[in-house]
Amino acid sequence: MLDTLNRHLMHPFMAWREGRPHLRYLKTLEKTQFDAPEVIRARQLEALKAQLKHAWDTVPYYRASWTQAGVHPSDVRELADLEAFPIVTKADIRRHNRAMVSSAFDVTKLREKRTSGSTGVPLTIYCDEPAMQWKAACTIRSDEWSGYRLGQRVAKAWGNPEYRHFGLKGRLRNYFLDRAVYLDTLDLNDQRIAEFTRTIRRHRPGLIFGHAHSLYLLACALKKARVFDVRPNGIISTAMILHDWQRAVIEEVLGCKVTNRYGCEEVSLIASECEEHNGLHVNADSVYAEVPSNGKLLVTDLCNRGMPLIRYQVGDVVVPSTRACKCGRGLPMIERVEGRDADYVLTPAGHLISGISLTENFAVLIPGTAQVQIVQESITQLRIRLVADDAFNTTSRQKIADLVRDTFGDTVAHDVELVDAIPQEPSGKYRFCISKVARDHMEAMSA
Ligand SMILES: [Zn+2]
Repeated sequence: MLDTLNRHLMHPFMAWREGRPHLRYLKTLEKTQFDAPEVIRARQLEALKAQLKHAWDTVPYYRASWTQAGVHPSDVRELADLEAFPIVTKADIRRHNRAMVSSAFDVTKLREKRTSGSTGVPLTIYCDEPAMQWKAACTIRSDEWSGYRLGQRVAKAWGNPEYRHFGLKGRLRNYFLDRAVYLDTLDLNDQRIAEFTRTIRRHRPGLIFGHAHSLYLLACALKKARVFDVRPNGIISTAMILHDWQRAVIEEVLGCKVTNRYGCEEVSLIASECEEHNGLHVNADSVYAEVPSNGKLLVTDLCNRGMPLIRYQVGDVVVPSTRACKCGRGLPMIERVEGRDADYVLTPAGHLISGISLTENFAVLIPGTAQVQIVQESITQLRIRLVADDAFNTTSRQKIADLVRDTFGDTVAHDVELVDAIPQEPSGKYRFCISKVARDHMEAMSA
């Protein structure tokens, strides 16, 4: 009852009040996802041409880079013509940041997003508000592929709950509208998991959402406590590789299929499984995805005009697909993502910290970090592997010491290993965080 009221009354009312068109966009997107593949491709081509023209006209970085490469937006007559255009790397974004912002926008009015990307490289991205709204609609559409319906309560196994940054207003909004309950994965212990279990048994969330390794931990804890009555409508695993052995335990304990999703802060949702759970549909209304022969995914953001990302190399290797999905959606497919992985880290007090959240925090907060990876050598020794840039100095070292102390307490020592690069594994997988001690603890938890 409350779910229905929330869906049909609260969400539309707040959207109207805040002048946010995302629910109207959602209605369109729900229909167009079933268009034929060639119709969707034609729409992408038009969106791509418009984005290229806008970038040429208003973004200094692209005009210079394309002039040098001898290409022009008018060269693009079909989608494949984009292959002649230069690739944009994370290093390019770090080096040319403001030159990639469109002169048609006041940068202070754009939404600023700080992220450590998918490979521990910190980046600042700016996004315009209409694009944020469109992307929000795309995300809700694929949220609902999981079985969840907008308006239902959501449980998140995630790092730092966002709403807490917005004071009372944030709490009220979360209480009445977003209705999310959180398991803070930056500091997990048996008591927190037990509390969260009680909360989700009481609130019966329609959706459980989180990093693969946090969902797996939660499922292990529920199994151990013999709690088998948490039955969400959907489960979404995101931001890292979902291993089959994790999926099996989560699905067994929660009695619901896991929907694997892939995205990044830079362009938001890239691809998601549908109810068939056989490959992922590209979010073609928001991004154009290219998979070159080396498998390194390139995405072009079709809607963010504030800071267009064109042929951006996300840093993940994906396996392309030409299959049509049984669900009937015309959205293109990828088979799987060889993305990112991270272990949980164990503190001397016996708490667990999500490796992906931990590394993201470090990457974004340490000045002069070009890339970072955290290795837990023993229960009291951390190695911070770091690629430094020119801004790295004694303040950065002090910040690392502060972060280690605040997160792990006084008994954990660390060393900083400055390296030229943090290699990806041969499969293309990137490991944010490696723990040489948490495995035994995790095995005990899942026994
Ligand atoms: Zn499908």
